[in-house]
Amino acid sequence: MWGDKRYNNLNYELKKTFGKKIYKVSLNAGLSCPNRDGKISYGGCIFCSEEGSGEHAGNKLDTITEQINKQIKLIKNKHNSDSVIAYFQSFTNTYGNINYLRKIFYEAINHKNVIGLAIATRPDCINKEILDLLNELNKKTFLWIEIGLQTIHEKTAKLINRGYSLHSFENSFYKLKNNNIKTVIHIIAGLPYETKEEYFDSIEYINKIKPWGIKIHLLYIIKNSSLYYLYLKEKFHVFSEKEYINLIVNSIKILDKNIIIHRITGDGDKDTLFKPKWSLNKRRVLNEIQKKLKLENIIQGNL
Ligand code: SF4
Repeated sequence: MWGDKRYNNLNYELKKTFGKKIYKVSLNAGLSCPNRDGKISYGGCIFCSEEGSGEHAGNKLDTITEQINKQIKLIKNKHNSDSVIAYFQSFTNTYGNINYLRKIFYEAINHKNVIGLAIATRPDCINKEILDLLNELNKKTFLWIEIGLQTIHEKTAKLINRGYSLHSFENSFYKLKNNNIKTVIHIIAGLPYETKEEYFDSIEYINKIKPWGIKIHLLYIIKNSSLYYLYLKEKFHVFSEKEYINLIVNSIKILDKNIIIHRITGDGDKDTLFKPKWSLNKRRVLNEIQKKLKLENIIQGNL
């Protein structure tokens, strides 16, 4: 058991590491993405929103310090903690001028309340220069890198317009791993036309490569995204709440107990989410997962 959870979870890990509850502040550094600015494509991954998957991030017109301060103020109003991980979430956060990247990452880690750094990016945006910078940051702070793999299947990767191959992912993943830089890999459950067996192939793959952490996302259909128009045209299967809960419980059963689960559901935006609406009740989904884990006496990795 990991605290009050039957799976290895980030809250537990951060509490164990820092001795107290740690929050994340989500930042928008005003960067772009090669899959949206035309370098690879203009369309982006078909599920990506206008905010570059950073719906809850700060305002890019504010400096990094201002974004951190504003979010700490909100956290302090609700909780008795002001130690945070600076999470560069929106778009691709290693896609930019190296001097600018150095400036924003140092601005974040030099903030008095920041005790760690999380950077979301793509594997095809980690060159030698970036890797050197990440190595440098890794020596100075508690660092992890998040990469959106979503699936190991090339046919689905093509359909969702991910824009890089599994080979490209592995290349960067092992560079990070060999440099002892922690990685968190994102997987999406419910991708169009992907079977449950295919989804579990991706989970088994995660077990094989052993990243530090995993985020499992439910596929959100955001209004006016390419995925939204694909759905209107083809009406592919979208998970029911029950199906998703079963899938997550089985994922937990399979996942290596040393892999930290950062997320098992999402934070959909009620104004832009088209489907599935049941996912907006995040608390209920999490409670149902807990209940089922308990009922079936499942803890992470016990299969
Ligand atoms: S890599 Fe991220 S920011 Fe870029 S299109 Fe895909 S989801 Fe959006």
